Amino acid sequence: MINIPKGTKDVLPQDSYKWQYVEGVARDIAKLFNLKEVRTPTFEHTELFQRGVGDTTDVVTKEMYTFKDKGDRSITLKPEGTAGAARSFIENGMASGVLPAKMFYITPAFRYERPQAGRLREFHQFGVEIFGAKSAQTDAEAIAAADALLKKLGLQVKLYINSIGCKTCRAEYNKALKAFFAPHLESLCYDCKTRYEKNPLRLLDCKEENCKKINAAAPSMLDYLCEDCKAHFEEVKSCLTLAGVEYEIDNRIVRGLDYYTRTVFEFVSTAIGAQGTVCAGGRYDGLIEELGGNSVPAVGFAAGLERLLIVMEQTGVVIPEPQKPTVYLAGMDNACRRKAFEIAASLRSAGVFAEIDHMDRSVKAQFKYADKLGAKYVAVIGGNELAEGVMNVKNMASGESEKVKFNDAVVYFQGK
Ligand code: ATP
Ligand code: MG
Repeated sequence: MINIPKGTKDVLPQDSYKWQYVEGVARDIAKLFNLKEVRTPTFEHTELFQRGVGDTTDVVTKEMYTFKDKGDRSITLKPEGTAGAARSFIENGMASGVLPAKMFYITPAFRYERPQAGRLREFHQFGVEIFGAKSAQTDAEAIAAADALLKKLGLQVKLYINSIGCKTCRAEYNKALKAFFAPHLESLCYDCKTRYEKNPLRLLDCKEENCKKINAAAPSMLDYLCEDCKAHFEEVKSCLTLAGVEYEIDNRIVRGLDYYTRTVFEFVSTAIGAQGTVCAGGRYDGLIEELGGNSVPAVGFAAGLERLLIVMEQTGVVIPEPQKPTVYLAGMDNACRRKAFEIAASLRSAGVFAEIDHMDRSVKAQFKYADKLGAKYVAVIGGNELAEGVMNVKNMASGESEKVKFNDAVVYFQGK
């Protein structure tokens, strides 16, 4: 027996409608915001993520699925969607096309993590990227798109926003952070000691209890923002209000990825505790240049589909069930079953959802099965009916029956 790999999941046929629903809502929202779908490969050159995600991040240092292909190239399964979208933006010359380039993706992502509820090794993201616009309105629009998605899905979430400034003001802030953490260095966790050297901002992101305690008194980036970054953040907040999006400021949000500048945000479910972050994003004006393109501002976010579905399940959001068969054709003997098969074929050609028996059930058992499928009508063909060229059609809701000629089947069931 070969089992599914740890940290992965099957979406079973009876559950896939839930995924299709969430993905459908995401696509609808994308349309409203003029976001066009981009599809990039599942694997990329490892260097893309080292540079694009950042080689001090947990994702790159610990979590990537990296391997050599048969041509001895280092390949990595995408751990997130932004780097691939950014590569595509550069490689396809979109910077010299019409800007902004507004896009979205729905993609699997791979991270070697310790699997638990809402944390998988293969998971799925709906992500949005807007390349080429630097205005605060664009940040607010990206956040508003995420907000619209979560509201449409019926999720109860809180939006937390922060600004982590630009290169210039962050340099000052990093100095202040280092000065603050220096006396605590001994009591910080192993990872935080490295973060202290390489990227002090990330000290604020640590999930260790003891580090969190120390963090609580750390200086706030918001006190170090330069004039431009401050004005940008004020405008983001003001535009969120214009869009009717409620937010709270959390000066501890820094995001795990290296390319973020200025606005960062997270939507956290108020219903589940651990892994409550369902959506996260921000501005990343440094990314395109980091990947070898010209300097192009960008903002985006990604929502984890598994987490959205978990929260929806836990809070009792009802997902519309898939369509049920319009008609189930039951046949008595072999000749009748052949007729049922033939009529089902013509109904399907005409776009009518029809089902037949595949398991040699008795007519009684076929009725039961049709009921279980939720068929609106059951059309029975017995020996007499076959001879007369009619079927006995029962409306399963009202219990009423009537005879319908084989030749009238399509007209009868179309629009039912
Ligand atoms: P976390 O703090 O939960 O580890 P992250 O900072 O690593 O999240 P991002 O890289 O910003 O997450 O990814 C965006 C979203 O993708 C997250 O908010 C979450 O909903 C989802 N996500 C991230 N990692 C996983 C995972 N291993 N399994 C399922 N969903 C995930
Ligand atoms: Mg993570």
